[in-house]
Amino acid sequence: MFEIENWHRDHHEKKLKGRRITLENISPLLKNIEQVFRVEKIGISELGRDIFSVSFGEGEINILIWTQMHGNESTGTKAVFDFFKLMEESIGKSKIIDKILKKCKITVIPLLNPDGAEAYTRVNANQIDLNRDVIDQSATESKILMQMIDKVNPEYCFNMHDQRTIFSVGEKNKPATLSFLAPSVDEERTITIRRKETMKIIVAMNNMLQKFIPGQIGRYSDEFYPTATGDNFQKMGHNTILIESGHFKNDYQRENTRRYTFLALLQGITSIIQAEKEIDFHSYFNIPNNEKKYLDIIIKNVNYKDKKIDIGVLYIEKIIKGKVNLIPSVEIIGDLAFYNANEVILDSKKVLKNENDLKKWLKNEYIKAI
Ligand SMILES: [Zn+2]
Repeated sequence: MFEIENWHRDHHEKKLKGRRITLENISPLLKNIEQVFRVEKIGISELGRDIFSVSFGEGEINILIWTQMHGNESTGTKAVFDFFKLMEESIGKSKIIDKILKKCKITVIPLLNPDGAEAYTRVNANQIDLNRDVIDQSATESKILMQMIDKVNPEYCFNMHDQRTIFSVGEKNKPATLSFLAPSVDEERTITIRRKETMKIIVAMNNMLQKFIPGQIGRYSDEFYPTATGDNFQKMGHNTILIESGHFKNDYQRENTRRYTFLALLQGITSIIQAEKEIDFHSYFNIPNNEKKYLDIIIKNVNYKDKKIDIGVLYIEKIIKGKVNLIPSVEIIGDLAFYNANEVILDSKKVLKNENDLKKWLKNEYIKAI
């Protein structure tokens, strides 16, 4: 993987970058790859935007990957286009890529919620969270995903999301750069045979990533969500791996995180074809749980309302003139000794009398455009 990590630094899809990735950004790239892969229009969104699938490989193991079912979660989209590029450049030159193409048929929906991507929202144009709509199927995008499940009949699915900076891992509260989940199929969180298979793939991805970002991989709570996509697909017999791409220090564009997401995907698919019997699914439970102990900024010992206190700040993303702006927002006030942050400011000489003072000061000092 070290070689491929290196490859990625120079060869990733440079036309996609930053946080906001829209249909307009990916359309010319889809046109380009038509020569190599099967690109199909699989439907249109609520507001009439095209939704595409890209497929390749001739094997018997069907894999379905979808990205940006939450419109403002674009890291997975960048990672799949990097994956297309790796495929394109390596066909006939790399044993492992040729093996993937021989053993699998991979179908990717590289932007399931183009209206949400345009508006930079989690939800679709009708305010539906597609990741909670698998039973109701009230969104046209949910129907398209379900049709693809029926058509592809995947043995494995990768459900690609982004998580906020707030998620931390382990005792040192490092940022959760990537987090995984093997969804439950019932309230008892039964470990079925198929769920064990999903867990094994996650163990393989975690083992690989620990070499690059030690201590920055977390595990999501496996509480059963009756309306969640992954839980239902897993229940239907399609092993579903949730990948959440998160924060990496100072990487607000998520370009480093993108590289690790790409590596995780490649490792996941490689492990599927190798059907690694020696992997023990129990190791899944050794991956630390995600906590919420990471912030964008901690300002220590601020003189606020006549007390010395720590202020924890999270950025809220807002689109201004087509660009993502990070607006500081107070998340927590108190003793933050057990928290970690992207930026820790040790001592501010500022005296702040009230909430208004605090809000104004944050907005003036810490607003950021990315
Ligand atoms: Zn999401």
